[in-house]
Amino acid sequence: MTAGATVVSPVPPAPLLDILSGRGGSALLLGHVHPDGDVLGTLLGLGLGLEAAGWAVTWAGPHPVPDVLAFLPGATRWQTWSAPPRRFDVVVLTDCPNPDRTEGLLDAARSASGHVLNIDHHPDNRRYGTLNWIDPAAAATGEMVFDLIRALGYPVTPEIALDLFTAVHTDTGSFRYSNTTPRTFRIAAELTAAGADPALVSDRLYQRRPPDALATLGLVLRRISVSKDGRVAWLTVPRGLCSEAFLAAEDLVTYPRSLDGVEVALLLREEGDGLVKASLRGKGRIAVNRIAQRFGGGGHENAAGCTVRGTLEDATTALLDAVSRALQEDRT
Ligand code: 5GP
Ligand code: MN
Repeated sequence: MTAGATVVSPVPPAPLLDILSGRGGSALLLGHVHPDGDVLGTLLGLGLGLEAAGWAVTWAGPHPVPDVLAFLPGATRWQTWSAPPRRFDVVVLTDCPNPDRTEGLLDAARSASGHVLNIDHHPDNRRYGTLNWIDPAAAATGEMVFDLIRALGYPVTPEIALDLFTAVHTDTGSFRYSNTTPRTFRIAAELTAAGADPALVSDRLYQRRPPDALATLGLVLRRISVSKDGRVAWLTVPRGLCSEAFLAAEDLVTYPRSLDGVEVALLLREEGDGLVKASLRGKGRIAVNRIAQRFGGGGHENAAGCTVRGTLEDATTALLDAVSRALQEDRT
């Protein structure tokens, strides 16, 4: 296997199995910015399997585990770094299309002769690993890591099952989005049989809102705007309107997305340092990742994002312009 090899397949590549079933060593399971259920579930689940197989495993990323995902087995081991304390033989990344999304941690943590294992389902993955395993047909990297753990012959413990089930559950919007396939349900069934409790996942994700959450939600949802033709809905969230924990727990973009007739939904969040984080969602007609790419971002056809420099108002205008152009092209 030469450095930088890429395998696009639903099947875990043999060189990946060779490296992970080798004699072990130090492995860093490295997350991307603002980690979500898919990246955390897969890194924690895979890492628990590696650790049981004899690897010295460290989990870290530039941002902490959000409170709503603190129930994931292994989450207490997660470290938040601005710089890594050392280098590692193997660095594993999941769900991370772009090494910039580690905020410099990858370059500072990899060793010159070591492996960078890039496991992802984003079609626009930059293939920055020494080995890249990409499966754009996977609904979540949770599906890929389940097959990887099976191929490695590791037992799927109830802890690993809960981590991977949550990865698949969150990236499919609770099995509602168009990425959900028979493979998704087959894997979810196997994970449930292995001890993942679907009701527990739903309870932790959706039934444990703090007492003031609904009042905040009401305040935020009043800010939704809809275009005259009803094809675009957007929500802007100025800094300070609600807490980080609220934003991490509530998938706010699902509300403008839920309106009948809406083809593109946007959430624009004002962050510090003059930056605005945009989340874009489509419903099958418009490839929103192409719009996000114009602003230096990316993602999937129906779920993408980008970070734009400027005021909330300017970023909103720029993105709405780009969406409106994409819709016009769709008409012609
Ligand atoms: P979200 O809107 O939930 O943050 O992200 C939705 C999808 O878009 C995810 O698959 C995520 O990886 C991708 N995405 C979000 N923000 C960015 C970004 O700034 N750059 C890239 N390349 N992808 C992003
Ligand atoms: Mn994902």
